[in-house]
Amino acid sequence: MFDLHLHLDGSLSKEDFIYLSKLSQVELPMNYESLIHCPKEAKSLDDYLRCFDLPLSLMQVKGSLKYSVKSLLDRLSKLGLIYAEIRFAPQLHIAKGMNQEEVVIDAIEGLKEAKIKANLILCAMRGDKNELENLETLRLVKKYLGKGVSGFDLAGSETLYPTNLFANLFKEAQKLGVPYTIHAGESAGYESIEQALDFGASRIGHGVRAKDNEMTMIRLKENKIFLEICPTSNLQTKAFLRYEDLPIRLFLLKGVHFFLNSDNMCVSMTDVNEEYKAIIKAFKLHKNEVYLLLCNALEASFIDEEDKWALKKKMDENFNDWYLNLKV
Ligand SMILES: [Zn+2]
Repeated sequence: MFDLHLHLDGSLSKEDFIYLSKLSQVELPMNYESLIHCPKEAKSLDDYLRCFDLPLSLMQVKGSLKYSVKSLLDRLSKLGLIYAEIRFAPQLHIAKGMNQEEVVIDAIEGLKEAKIKANLILCAMRGDKNELENLETLRLVKKYLGKGVSGFDLAGSETLYPTNLFANLFKEAQKLGVPYTIHAGESAGYESIEQALDFGASRIGHGVRAKDNEMTMIRLKENKIFLEICPTSNLQTKAFLRYEDLPIRLFLLKGVHFFLNSDNMCVSMTDVNEEYKAIIKAFKLHKNEVYLLLCNALEASFIDEEDKWALKKKMDENFNDWYLNLKV
């Protein structure tokens, strides 16, 4: 019913690729379908991240983000979602002349015609030559907060550019008072999560490596920091081999708050309902436990209290039907 960890560039449909290639005047390679899904032989997060090259090449002109956001929200509405947070990195869309702000405005336009409520999370990118671009992204979060943008994130290769390199960026984020999540503890260990907690993140993207350290789990629980777990993506990046290996029961037992997400509907060939199905089956989750995870997602969402109450009412009205439709 909620997907709060969902990358725009990793979630295009086949129709989107065709439409965007015409809009962008970029010819699709003959074998394009083999380039946009995570290959079975992927060995790591870095292999996974290569699947974003083609979609990004098609999302560099005005109208391309607006179209992609609207199309994604239409699909989410059909899946029965009632709220979503869609994320992307504006600095990866400026190769053909748009600036970061124009990219953000284009994406916000896509929210306006959508059938469900949604907000945008703007991602900074892990790297060592883009400090200014990351700061610009952060300033845009502040400028458009509450106007279509709800939060800030740090994405990219966690192994090449460890979380500790971004202390200044998050010091600034704290100063500006914007809410943020940080991808951490996905391909790197629990230390990366500790770092994100030190930086003041209120949510952690993935965070599954918290399982390796008792103190990290206690810290997550006591500070009520939510983990955005994306199970299929974790299998594809080889963080785990089977759904059963994910620390779902452990986190429930330890009181670590989390909820499920799709990460990338196209790259991972999934959607958030499929993620719930897989985890319910693998761990024989009780209906009450599934409800609890949805409550976590709602509580963790970057929206104000009034909107949360409205969504809670909608969630309760729709929960039974949504659960039945999962056919678990
Ligand atoms: Zn992600």
